[in-house]
Amino acid sequence: MTLSLFSLEGRTALITGSSQGIGFALARGLGQAGARIVLNGRGPARLAKAAETLRAEGIAVDEAVFDVTDAEAVAEAIPRIERDHAPLDILVNNAGIQRRAPLEQFPESDWRELMDTNLDSVFYVSKAVANCMIPRKRGKIINICSVQSELGRPSIAPYAASKGALKMLTKGMCIDWGPHGIQVNGIGPGYFETELTEALVRDETFSGWLTGRTPARRWGKLEELSGAAIYLASDASSFVNGHILYVDGGVTTTL
Ligand code: NAP
Repeated sequence: MTLSLFSLEGRTALITGSSQGIGFALARGLGQAGARIVLNGRGPARLAKAAETLRAEGIAVDEAVFDVTDAEAVAEAIPRIERDHAPLDILVNNAGIQRRAPLEQFPESDWRELMDTNLDSVFYVSKAVANCMIPRKRGKIINICSVQSELGRPSIAPYAASKGALKMLTKGMCIDWGPHGIQVNGIGPGYFETELTEALVRDETFSGWLTGRTPARRWGKLEELSGAAIYLASDASSFVNGHILYVDGGVTTTL
């Protein structure tokens, strides 16, 4: 009985930006818990390869190629997914990018691209999905925030601004959509080894500094994010609304 609260059998989950990295790991985790998965990304070949990997593991997978920053493409894609595949029970807003430069040199085009991808896209996709979920009076939305929703670092002020805003968007979505039976929460990953953090992983000074100040004394492993996602996507979290669950080895707790 207790474990069945975590089951996602019969549910369908769209995970944005899931051809690799954290999104792919979350897709695998939700799929292992029983969900049908809709993978998303811009690159059809990369998406097909990711889908093939999950199918070989016995997970039911559909692919939806669209750019989450393109409001028109999103408005067209979400009803199409619901029509062609299944009604969406779970949305994970994961697609995100990083751009690093001292703020006084930060190119305006990078600022725009970063905000479009990390923040505007969440508004577009969530609005379209919420409009499908509201009549059904149920749904789970999980926004992938970051430790940078709370803490800054040199050369990533725009990223931190986007993730700080995403934390408050999560709370706003929770307030507006909670009365419709939709639960909106966030996951704040600490430092995980992916393409997005490749430069940091290679930087021994950074990596030594990071592990030294993380109470768990190491980088996170991607599969360690699955438990939080399964919890927030399932009935196990049925009265958890507007919470940001940091999965960070404790790094947000210490100076
Ligand atoms: P990643 O390895 O770079 O993967 C990003 C994924 O998003 C790819 O599948 C990419 O596929 C897709 N994507 C990018 N732009 C897109 C767009 N406009 N439309 C649709 N899909 C798009 O990144 P990651 O490290 O897994 O990060 C995933 C999320 O976790 C991000 O929101 C990031 O901020 C957050 N995060 C990461 C870490 C970490 O340690 N890695 C820590 C905290 C938070 P295509 O290029 O084919 O579209």
